[in-house]
Amino acid sequence: MENIYVTSPSLPPLEEYQEYLASIWQSKKLTNYGPFHEKLEAELSQKLGVEHLMLTSNGTLALVIALQEMRITGEVITTPFSFAATTHALHWNGIKPVFSDIDPQTYNLDPAKIEAAITPRTTAILPVHVYGTPCDMEAIGKIADTYGLKVLYDAAHAFGVEKDGQSILNFGDMSVLSFHATKAYNTVEGGAIVCKDAKTKQRLRYLQNFGIADELTIVAPGINAKMNEFQAAFGLLQLKYVDGEIDKREKVWNLYDSLLDGVPGITRPARVPRVRANYSYYPVLVDGEAFGTDRDGLYQRLKEDKIFARRYFYPLISEFPTYRGLPSADRANLPNAHRVADRVLCLPIFADLSPEAVQLIVGIIREIALGQ
Ligand SMILES: *Cc1c(COP(=O)(O)O)cnc(C)c1O
Repeated sequence: MENIYVTSPSLPPLEEYQEYLASIWQSKKLTNYGPFHEKLEAELSQKLGVEHLMLTSNGTLALVIALQEMRITGEVITTPFSFAATTHALHWNGIKPVFSDIDPQTYNLDPAKIEAAITPRTTAILPVHVYGTPCDMEAIGKIADTYGLKVLYDAAHAFGVEKDGQSILNFGDMSVLSFHATKAYNTVEGGAIVCKDAKTKQRLRYLQNFGIADELTIVAPGINAKMNEFQAAFGLLQLKYVDGEIDKREKVWNLYDSLLDGVPGITRPARVPRVRANYSYYPVLVDGEAFGTDRDGLYQRLKEDKIFARRYFYPLISEFPTYRGLPSADRANLPNAHRVADRVLCLPIFADLSPEAVQLIVGIIREIALGQ
């Protein structure tokens, strides 16, 4: 068998992309809000069920710009159980991250813990819909309203996710998506910000294009975070196929669920009811004693068979050298996050992962569980 990685990107048919490339060669419009960019923005907004969406060069700069537009300063309450970019975006804005613990069932920021982390310097909450599981948006919204805080959702994992038939991207003040190659929908690299109104989107556009309003007017110290025409054209094709790809992921997911059923020491995060998922990740928690080996043991054993599962998200962001000195990074403040980070392993899942590969992976897991 070939190497099996935790994910493998979906790509559109090459011939279709070549046609789009020919059109770029003809127009010589390579970037700066070309026709593919404008079309993708419109089609994505419609597809995702949001009104105001701005494309960006990647998800990290989308987070940086969103924080700037909202003029968020001081302290922001966030989760340590995420990809590095979530907290780094705060750092790049000179904002102090305040880590708060996660819910042991969903692995998302626990709303019940947020209030205790609020200080006079708190200006916002930065939650993550980790693995595409929706946060408790109602509870987070209530806290934000009570204390006058902004909410920026890191929705990098949440492409197309709906709760009660509504896009979860419409909650909070803004949401940020990532279209990196490893995500459920990709534009090679890319991202987007979902915001509430056209004026906000206009200011976000200034910020992503050096602050340029017109030839003579630079309204803000903006950065360069535009999506180019090659990414946008690629993204338009991806959009045609993404539903089919997510359906294929769901089949892989269901096969794992049925084959892993009853394996001692292997548990899964809770599924939030009334959610349309995107099946991006397949995390399991490994309880070393009940299972027979700990998470790292399973990770190594799979590697021997060229199966490259990943320990998303370990180590916690609060353990990085940049952040571990913060008072909120103390282990005692984050017991659930540590418990999950020490046990979690994301098994391979992608549209073209074969049933045989899933059987092979679960076969190894069952062998360990039986062999103890
Ligand atoms: C991927 C990811 C990002 C960053 O997105 P890029 O497009 O790679 O810059 C941010 N937050 C989370 C949770 C992510 O997984």
